[in-house]
Amino acid sequence: MSGYSNSFFHKPQSHHLASRHVAVIGAGAAGLVAARELRREGHKVIVFERGDQLGGTWVYNPNVESDPIGVNPNRTLVHSSMYESLRTNLPREAMGFRDYPFVAKKGDEERDPRRFPVHREVLMYLKDFAGEFGISEIVRLETEVVLVDAAAGGKWKVKSRSKGGGDVEDEIYDAVVVCCGHHTEPRLPQIQGINTWKGKQIHSHNYRTPAPFQNQIVVLIGSATSAIDISREIARIAKEVHIASRSLPDETNEKQPGYDNLWLHSMIKGVHEDGSLVFRDGSFVVADIILYCTGYKYHFPFLKTNDIVTVDDNCVGPLYKHIFPPALAPSLSFVGLPWMIAPFPMFEFQSKWIAGILSNRIALPSQEEMMEDVKAFHSSLETLGIPKHYTHNVFGYKLGYDEWLAAQCGCPGFEEWRKQMYVAALENLHKQPETYRDELEDHHLVLQAHQDFTNYTV
Ligand code: FAD
Repeated sequence: MSGYSNSFFHKPQSHHLASRHVAVIGAGAAGLVAARELRREGHKVIVFERGDQLGGTWVYNPNVESDPIGVNPNRTLVHSSMYESLRTNLPREAMGFRDYPFVAKKGDEERDPRRFPVHREVLMYLKDFAGEFGISEIVRLETEVVLVDAAAGGKWKVKSRSKGGGDVEDEIYDAVVVCCGHHTEPRLPQIQGINTWKGKQIHSHNYRTPAPFQNQIVVLIGSATSAIDISREIARIAKEVHIASRSLPDETNEKQPGYDNLWLHSMIKGVHEDGSLVFRDGSFVVADIILYCTGYKYHFPFLKTNDIVTVDDNCVGPLYKHIFPPALAPSLSFVGLPWMIAPFPMFEFQSKWIAGILSNRIALPSQEEMMEDVKAFHSSLETLGIPKHYTHNVFGYKLGYDEWLAAQCGCPGFEEWRKQMYVAALENLHKQPETYRDELEDHHLVLQAHQDFTNYTV
């Protein structure tokens, strides 16, 4: 156990800010802003990125994995789950980092000025961000972290491998910030009879365009944003699309307005060898393809913590505030685990907090106090009947979470316009799934946002 001690950091708070040598794993939005905050705080940072460019999930890859449902651990891996037509599900004003507004760039034809732009525009924004803050120079591209393990003195050994199975390097860091994303490992529901079902199955991680669904009868499982988008895109060319959602009442069986071939159902009860899928109300369809839009699993294959940090039913823990494992804090931390939240600004708050703690500017509670907090959090989820795999869904208290982090960092919380815009966008998505990106009535909020942005852009 001694290798896992956090004694290195448990010195009394000093007035001198400490500068740590920090490894950041991943150069997506989380890793980029983590690197920026760590450097602002005076730490020495290296960002490891296994891809050939930064941007993480926003680097669209037309290729798909060799196993369309992602169960084979030896499959060829594709990181991003972006599909070709994807436009953001948040308006750019609310989506961007707080002090680097995601504003439209005029006069560049490659840019998409819309408020809900295509994925490429987000990638360009992230590249601009990395360039602006000098992060690109500290990213080691095509370098995969294959092991993070405890080293003497509460430090971490980081083993990385460059592309093509080339050089393997071992280095020692004071701290590791894990920013590897969590939209790559498909999560599949358990369906009775699925092992003998003869049709095709694919997870949305491997969905790129609707072409393979032409004239097919498709059952799409899920009801989150991707499911809403993809079902409608496929319905344009498929014979029939049946959406099965576990959050709908058993008797649901409704044709969707504006479509002849798109239905909404309750969840699937089971499937049969003859190709039929039976919904909870007893109705059934004989389908060609099941498309799972059922989310993703947290996955940290490189992380060795002697089982101090585990992933159990998609709950990573124990973690204080979804970030620090109490027994390894603050030398090990995670950015980006919570979901159902505006991701980029949350990454920014989480990263500021981590950076300030690593320098001793901000104090963490003791290990025991953090553990007590974690236990209290889990028992509150249990009391509310929230399943374990919803541990990092912060929907019920998302603004509270960001506000709490901001207060810890001593910086202002969310702007009022951002809160309202975020809530309005979500409501609009469910009210008008076809048009929510282009028909918004929040001009007063846009004006306020741009007023705020002048603090950063002039
Ligand atoms: P990622 O972007 O996934 O980046 C992680 C990086 O870590 C990757 O570059 C990966 O290559 C690297 N990595 C992983 N393992 C290793 C390793 N062992 N060694 C080295 N590098 C490694 N958010 C929004 O705000 N608005 C949206 O409209 C929106 N739409 C989305 C649509 C889809 C289909 C998906 C999947 C997500 C969407 N999101 C959206 C959420 C999005 O995931 C987050 O906004 C954010 O981009 C995640 O950033 P990240 O840095 O946490 O992870």
